[in-house]
Amino acid sequence: MMARGTVPAETMEFTHDPTGIRGRRAISRHERQHLLAELRQELVACRLCPRLVEWRERVAAAKVRRFRDEEYWGRPVPAFGSVDAALLVVGLAPAAHGANRTGRMFTGDSSGDWLFRALHRYGWADRPSSVGRRDGLALEGCFITAAVRCPPPQNKPTRAEIENCRRYLMRELALLRSLHVVVVLGRIAFAAFCDAWTGIGNSFEGREAALFRHGAQYPLSGGVTLLSSYHPSRQNTQTGRLTRAMFHRVFSRARRLLRET
Ligand code: SF4
Repeated sequence: MMARGTVPAETMEFTHDPTGIRGRRAISRHERQHLLAELRQELVACRLCPRLVEWRERVAAAKVRRFRDEEYWGRPVPAFGSVDAALLVVGLAPAAHGANRTGRMFTGDSSGDWLFRALHRYGWADRPSSVGRRDGLALEGCFITAAVRCPPPQNKPTRAEIENCRRYLMRELALLRSLHVVVVLGRIAFAAFCDAWTGIGNSFEGREAALFRHGAQYPLSGGVTLLSSYHPSRQNTQTGRLTRAMFHRVFSRARRLLRET
């Protein structure tokens, strides 16, 4: 039986596969894990975006008072989760004093508190909080990544920086062969994911007309469903633009979609 979300080999159309992975029909789990580990090694050494490299390192050296005794990660932040994940969560970028400090996606800031509470409630995380990369938190069937892997000043990456970083997202997508639901957090993540998805030869019918909005749902190729949510940034959660109930409804729907398969 074919894994959920797997595109049947005979229906694959690889118009463009810059990763060199997506077009390989037979690729073992072991090999995908190995390629993911290689990707991680490359990623953490990446210095492609001079502005972001300078910013991540400056923030890591200067720190903030409340974390002055901690050693900041200060490098690109790798994705977190299993290569067999059925749920993919795509965020914007590491927070300057969150993941840029802890070295793990959505770990150590209020956005992460929101995300992990939702993931725990719906069965993808073994606890509702995420404080450090060695806190023992385990994910089940979930993979968390971001459009950009270095913290941008004011949380605003440039178009060129997003394009630079797409190479990593595309390679991750090419390796995640059991995907069934993708939750994108925010407009930039929505666009970055769509570009990466189609950039490796997947199809997204109606992509041009598909707009980012909270609660939107779009069918993708291979039986994958795209759900979009506002990002759980303080800007959204403290103003009430995104409430806990709104956020949890997205993950509740993701869980329902997975149960239906
Ligand atoms: S944002 Fe991405 S491409 Fe740019 S330096 Fe960081 S890891 Fe490299």
